[in-house]
Amino acid sequence: MKIGIPRAFLYYRYKELWETFFHELGIDYVVSPETGPEIVRTGSLYAIDEACLSAKVYLGHVEWLIGKCDYILVPRIAGLGAGAVCSKFQAIYDVVANTFRERKIKLAGYNLAPGVKEGEMAAFIRLGQFCGRKKAGCVLAYMAAKQAEKQALWKELQEQESLLQRQGIKVLVVGHRYNVADKFIGEPVLQYLRELGVIPVPADIVPRKKAVLLSAEMSETLPWAFAKELVGSVVFYRERVDGLLILSTFPCGPDSLVNEMLLRRVKDKPVLNLVLDGHEAMAGIETRLESFFDIICMQKGETSVCL
Ligand code: SF4
Repeated sequence: MKIGIPRAFLYYRYKELWETFFHELGIDYVVSPETGPEIVRTGSLYAIDEACLSAKVYLGHVEWLIGKCDYILVPRIAGLGAGAVCSKFQAIYDVVANTFRERKIKLAGYNLAPGVKEGEMAAFIRLGQFCGRKKAGCVLAYMAAKQAEKQALWKELQEQESLLQRQGIKVLVVGHRYNVADKFIGEPVLQYLRELGVIPVPADIVPRKKAVLLSAEMSETLPWAFAKELVGSVVFYRERVDGLLILSTFPCGPDSLVNEMLLRRVKDKPVLNLVLDGHEAMAGIETRLESFFDIICMQKGETSVCL
């Protein structure tokens, strides 16, 4: 049996967990390649027009995997301990199953919802058993996967600390990792920031539980777990960065509210809000990044390389 994993959405959060779990069970898996124009084009063809760019990218990755594996991993996640998540993560299993029903797609999944007695371990045992493995082996594989996940998070936090200790202008990039780290969506923006001499600091790399608690300093009514982590990250890092770059995809419902709140409440730093739909010319984005960079330089009393 070979499992296909779309390199999109929550893959960026659960990479170690998923890959170690399958590896420990001796299950072969294939991850779709980095996002490119062809994947975006295909995903856009299958998606409804109203879908966010991130969901279109996801469908493009699923399509790439069809015919290259036996089952495609598409979890259904309604929420995490810190709260609800965007409804796309709950709906995506059914969206994928329906969108590709004529391609005879076969899915492997697991369900997570806040308040449900069966937690993550039970969900992974079920997934392992679905793949034909015994319960005891699934428990051991899950424990090894959690350990790998913990180590990866710890390593990321160490790398983040090294970034923050470097000399130079630092910008906190506030966005979902599946957007910020995606080669087609976020990477060109980060690359241009680096060319300007800016150090991009990803906001989603943060002690998560602490960030969720800190988010209450900015808003006590945020419903979404991932938004709480990002908003808490702004509170956690804001003294150590020179500006905030909010990066979202169009038309993201949760981000449209959260970004507006950040724009109104962060008054002590320059903030740039970039909403990407996959069609914009890079020249327009570069101009906005240069202006943002100029403002940061002016505030710091430094000369901008763009002037
Ligand atoms: S949070 Fe926004 S970008 Fe992410 S899946 Fe939901 S609508 Fe799309």
